[in-house]
Amino acid sequence: MQNRKILLSENEIPTHWYNIVHDMPNKPLPPLHPGTKEPIGPEALAPLFPMELIKQEVSTEKYIEIPDEVRDIYKLWRPSPMYRAYGLEKALDTPAKIYYKYDGVSPSGSHKPNTAVAQAYYNKQEGVKRITTETGAGQWGSALSFACNHFDLECEVYMVKISYHQKPYRKVMMNTWGAKVFASPTNLTEAGRKILAEDPDSPGSLGIAISEAVERAAMADDTKYALGSVLNHVLMHQTVVGQEAVKQMEKAGDLPDIVIGPFGGGSNFAGISFPFIRMNLEEGTNIRCIASEPASCPKLTRGVFRYDFGDTVGMTPLLPMYTLGHNFVPAPIHAGGLRYHGAGVVVSQLLKDQLIEATSHDQLECFEAGVLFAQKEGIIPAPETTHAVATAIREANKCKEEGVGKTILIHLCGHGYFDLAAYENYFAGNLVKHEVTTAEIEANLAQLDTPEIG
Ligand SMILES: *Cc1c(COP(=O)(O)O)cnc(C)c1O
Repeated sequence: MQNRKILLSENEIPTHWYNIVHDMPNKPLPPLHPGTKEPIGPEALAPLFPMELIKQEVSTEKYIEIPDEVRDIYKLWRPSPMYRAYGLEKALDTPAKIYYKYDGVSPSGSHKPNTAVAQAYYNKQEGVKRITTETGAGQWGSALSFACNHFDLECEVYMVKISYHQKPYRKVMMNTWGAKVFASPTNLTEAGRKILAEDPDSPGSLGIAISEAVERAAMADDTKYALGSVLNHVLMHQTVVGQEAVKQMEKAGDLPDIVIGPFGGGSNFAGISFPFIRMNLEEGTNIRCIASEPASCPKLTRGVFRYDFGDTVGMTPLLPMYTLGHNFVPAPIHAGGLRYHGAGVVVSQLLKDQLIEATSHDQLECFEAGVLFAQKEGIIPAPETTHAVATAIREANKCKEEGVGKTILIHLCGHGYFDLAAYENYFAGNLVKHEVTTAEIEANLAQLDTPEIG
């Protein structure tokens, strides 16, 4: 038997982030101003983000050097381990080889600190005192709290009210790293007060929390805003994961046929897959990269490619992306981190150009996959992450039927130890199979009056 664990040493942490925009045959279309619907330049983002991140957002340079201070913090958990899933392979009785890259070893338990640390660093460099953000399930809020704490920045997190009450330990985690956490909607912002006036018992939503965090950042010169997914620079920071994975696969003497990541806004999927897509584009490999999304929020598999807002209220620039419409309200499934109506611009263009694939699963199939994974490999995956496991199992079963042994790589991007209430609900039989209907999708898309992409 080969080694179960494929490890790299500290000096093999990547020195650069990989910017796939440089290699894309069709470059992403520009963002549009929400009012005039004219293309906007990078300067429009200046009130919200530090200059260096804005430069990265529009950069077409192939590699961007990772600052030493950032690499130094990465050393707390990077390079992250890769494992061969012998237990899962055996349970599935498949000829496929399954590997997983595990980013749940980070301090906050997911891939999100890979970008949180970089974002906090550039804000600190540019004299920012305070960063605001929103969080749904709490994974992004805790990653940013950890990063801000390291650089001695204040961190204000607007946490969707229903999650604030359902996930008290994520809040405590953020408080431990010194962050202030507010149950959104709050009465601290115009946006929050407006919602509360209409509905004092509003459970909140990611869209509302974004509006609150953005408003706070726009109000004060010493305060900026940070986003944990979707944007180009965020996806690029995550490519440390895939660059390590390329080396680890080489070390294992293998090359994946299929690379899989769960899909919310695209950051962990980009992280694991972009360095492999680079190989497809440059070296002629034919690695299938599959984004795995919930059947209840299927923007990649059933949405449309057009301009839409990033938030519910319509304050953000219009972005060219796969979307279910910014008014789409996903069912309250347990994979909170995947309940977003849109997809990152770069990943959307790659899907449009058929350089990546997408698939979906209902939540019961995902929890079943998560439990099997936990029983055979030990780690309990985050509810979001179980989607990638479900896709891997589907592909491994296909290998069995067809009698071919492919190599599958899963991004196990987070653990589920703060999400056990979701597993409890699954065991209690409280979760239902849920798929959004075509009528629901069409009705929602019919409301869109944003520009189509022609
Ligand atoms: C946030 C999160 C996701 C979804 O966001 P992406 O940007 O698509 O990666 C998925 N899995 C985990 C563990 C997360 O924390």
